[in-house]
Amino acid sequence: MGLNLHTHLEGWVRPTTAAALAREAGVPEPDGGWDRALRLDGPADLTVFLAHVAAAYPVLGSAAALRRVAREAVEDAAGDGCDYLEIRFGPSTHRRPGFDLAAVVEATAEGLAEGSRATGLQSGLVVCLLRHDDDETNLAVARAAAAAAGRGVVGLDVAGDELRFPSNVPYEAPFAIAAAAGLGLTAHAAEAGPASAVIEAVERFGVRRIGHGAEAASDPTVLAWAADHGVVFEVCPTSNVLTGAAPATGAHPFHAFLAAGCAIVLGDDDPVTTRSPLSAEERWMAETGGLTAADLQAIHRTACEVGFMDESVRAALRSRFA
Ligand SMILES: [Zn+2]
Repeated sequence: MGLNLHTHLEGWVRPTTAAALAREAGVPEPDGGWDRALRLDGPADLTVFLAHVAAAYPVLGSAAALRRVAREAVEDAAGDGCDYLEIRFGPSTHRRPGFDLAAVVEATAEGLAEGSRATGLQSGLVVCLLRHDDDETNLAVARAAAAAAGRGVVGLDVAGDELRFPSNVPYEAPFAIAAAAGLGLTAHAAEAGPASAVIEAVERFGVRRIGHGAEAASDPTVLAWAADHGVVFEVCPTSNVLTGAAPATGAHPFHAFLAAGCAIVLGDDDPVTTRSPLSAEERWMAETGGLTAADLQAIHRTACEVGFMDESVRAALRSRFA
């Protein structure tokens, strides 16, 4: 097993936990029940995919709920055999009156820490700016992330709809705040937007890691630039197939990344939504993607270098995958 460097907390909510949290919060059960609401049955598109992820949002707006879901995510990742879990979420989604960004981040980080103490699986929290949020909100999210650096928060990301909100200018200032606080930096880019979004993210935000980047796979110029600049692509194979970003077999974007000389790392994106935790993603990379055991080891070693973990954790992971 290996390191999970791209996965969203909102896609980890156990259907049984959603049902319990909904009962406590007085949220009505969705038509067909929580299992059907949270999980996908088969290939869809990004809109349908995100609707299944968003089905969990109504039950996540409290400290107790976020702490529980975060703790259970670490437990489930440990049960799956994961070696290091870097989990991200968009705190602005879960704010409520009297439950502000700082409290949202703190509760979620506490849940991860509880899970890590209980299982021994090291974890870190990555905070996401969201493209549909206004500039003030994203600045506040970056400040909340920076304030929690060293207390569970390890990085900053930007996620959301690149087609409806294509400009990258609004995220420069938030990324600068995170960089100044010493946080790791990553960005969803060229997931739906143009290949050039990879270059923009590197130059404007200072990231080296790119989430998905699928659109860059068909642009040799961008891929050559990415290889020259040491860009590492975070690959989530099943999610990419279910959202329609990649075909089910053969031509997954990761082949183009590797052929161009770019390194990749693995994530499972939303394992409850996709029904495919990291162990299944690794099997997919071997059986459908054609990677050897040595190829997978190389991916894990890359993840040890570009993960946002403490240096002591990094050293332990390096020796595990040496
Ligand atoms: Zn993602």
